[in-house]
Amino acid sequence: MRTIAICTLGCKLNQAEAEGLREKFEERGLKIVEPFQKADFYIINACAVTQKAEKETRQLISRIKRMFPKTYLIVIGCFTSILRLDREFIGKVDKWIDNKNKEKADKLILGQILKKKKGKNELKKKTRAFIKIQDGCRNYCSYCIVPYLRKEILNKPPQKIIQEIKNRERNGCQEIVLVGTNIGNYRIGKYDLKDLLREILDKTTIKRIRLTSFWPTLINQEFVKLIQNNPRICPHIHLSIQSASSEVLEKMNRPYSRKDLEKIIKQLKQIKDINLTADIIVGFPGESEKDFQETYNFVKSSQFLKIHVFKFSARPGTKASLVEDEISDKIKKIRSNKLIKLGEKLSEKQRKTFINSTSEALIENKRSEYWQGYTPNYLKVFFKSLPTGQAGKQNLTNQIVKVKLVKFYQDGFMGKFISL
Ligand code: SF4
Repeated sequence: MRTIAICTLGCKLNQAEAEGLREKFEERGLKIVEPFQKADFYIINACAVTQKAEKETRQLISRIKRMFPKTYLIVIGCFTSILRLDREFIGKVDKWIDNKNKEKADKLILGQILKKKKGKNELKKKTRAFIKIQDGCRNYCSYCIVPYLRKEILNKPPQKIIQEIKNRERNGCQEIVLVGTNIGNYRIGKYDLKDLLREILDKTTIKRIRLTSFWPTLINQEFVKLIQNNPRICPHIHLSIQSASSEVLEKMNRPYSRKDLEKIIKQLKQIKDINLTADIIVGFPGESEKDFQETYNFVKSSQFLKIHVFKFSARPGTKASLVEDEISDKIKKIRSNKLIKLGEKLSEKQRKTFINSTSEALIENKRSEYWQGYTPNYLKVFFKSLPTGQAGKQNLTNQIVKVKLVKFYQDGFMGKFISL
């Protein structure tokens, strides 16, 4: 049996695409092996969104080629646009599939490289599945390379999305994560993400619907009500805020101001037990100490569960790369450290508000004697299996169980099992 390994770097969209490929290959009876094991074919679903991601991609390609010189190496994803210009790397890769052809990557790989053969493999049961609803972006935030790498816009028809979710449900999946380059961009005529969510709620019985990162501007009272009235939509929202200084946001070509952000956070906080996470860039060209302080104060007052802090680094080809990057690495580091420290404090404070509350955890696995899972608002919880009684005997993987959040540790809550 031929073997394939898939390595994925970058965003949730890349993970969703890799998962789609994995399932298609398994349907064809191919054996998927873990990354860094010997395989006939290696697929690297690569990322080039940040300089760091590009570097990691290059290192991964070199490493795989070094470890398995005979493997047939295929690179797909954003990095291929850069690879096209890089003669050194073209030689290392046997085949590359760019974003334009990514939708048919499975056919290209299967059709041209592998001998088709029908397999009897069942799809692996998955607790959580990524459903790609949208691809591409033409928002042209001034720092972002994505619109140059993924400018073809794709909005998957709702019927197709519903069908995919039903297939996952049949396969035992309890949670779906809607992913895309920017799921807030999902639109077919007047039909938008809110309509899609209503249709998923109406036409499927999937237990949990999770959303990935999107622009804050999608949030309004209608959106808040939709989540409030439908507990199947997980109350965990990840916002790509980037800055809370109106001046910096304008330079970034982001269509909202600090005032808008304050209003949005206030609206979201109406949702019971909601947890908010956010992406922030520090050291964007022109970010003054006052601008940074505005972002800092905004983060402080918004009580995020987690913030992801990125130091600005210019991506060649973007508008921001043409502006002089006058903020020194030292200042960027100071601002980044300050914000990371604040984020850690806020995270602890926010998590502590859930101590002694009960929630439902979707169990993903068992490590040593502890079952582990996530609550709808994305708190990690682990608890010991009971030596006697129902839960002691049962395999809880992929089950939703009621737990009490007893104690908070650095990486999650110690919980107490209540019931199935
Ligand atoms: S919305 Fe902005 S940051 Fe997000 S992918 Fe599009 S251009 Fe990049």
